[in-house]
Amino acid sequence: MNQNIKFNELSHDCWVLNMSSEYTKNNIDIDKTELEKYAQSIFEETFDIKNEISFIKSHRWLYAQTKLSYNTISKKNWINSKDNKIFLSGDWVLGKSLSDAWDAGEKLSHYIKILSV
Ligand SMILES: Cc1cc2nc3c(=O)[nH]c(=O)nc-3n(C[C@H](O)[C@H](O)[C@H](O)COP(=O)(O)OP(=O)(O)OC[C@H]3O[C@@H](n4cnc5c(N)ncnc54)[C@H](O)[C@@H]3O)c2cc1C
Repeated sequence: MNQNIKFNELSHDCWVLNMSSEYTKNNIDIDKTELEKYAQSIFEETFDIKNEISFIKSHRWLYAQTKLSYNTISKKNWINSKDNKIFLSGDWVLGKSLSDAWDAGEKLSHYIKILSV
């Protein structure tokens, strides 16, 4: 993904390459320099570009990703306390992305709004 759209002040091209979950799983302990060389080679091959890189940095993704959402399992859109005064929400309610977090928060906020009328 090209990042220049996020950071207008960048004067050079800035890219983020995400490896697949499968690649990460199979190469979890790969040496970072080796990974950077490999990522660079994929990038060069894919875009047929051979510009000199001014900065490259890799990191491992070790965060969990929701495979089965809470909604899929329970058909519910939040977790509530018995007295219906405390609620739990988050991306995990609907999925794994920012838009899931937004949608889940919106659903709960609409419900709380109805409660407070
Ligand atoms: C490195 C990274 C890159 C990502 N990139 C993308 C992307 O490109 N596109 C995309 O769609 N999604 C992306 N995601 C996923 C996205 O960030 C999450 O889906 C989203 O932020 C989840 O929102 P949330 O509100 O459920 O949880 P969070 O954003 O984690 O918010 C939880 C909040 O609760 C607070 N908190 C935790 N415990 C307590 C406590 N005990 N008391 C008070 N506050 C507490 C935390 O400080 C935090 O502010 C990325 C995630 C990571 C980690």
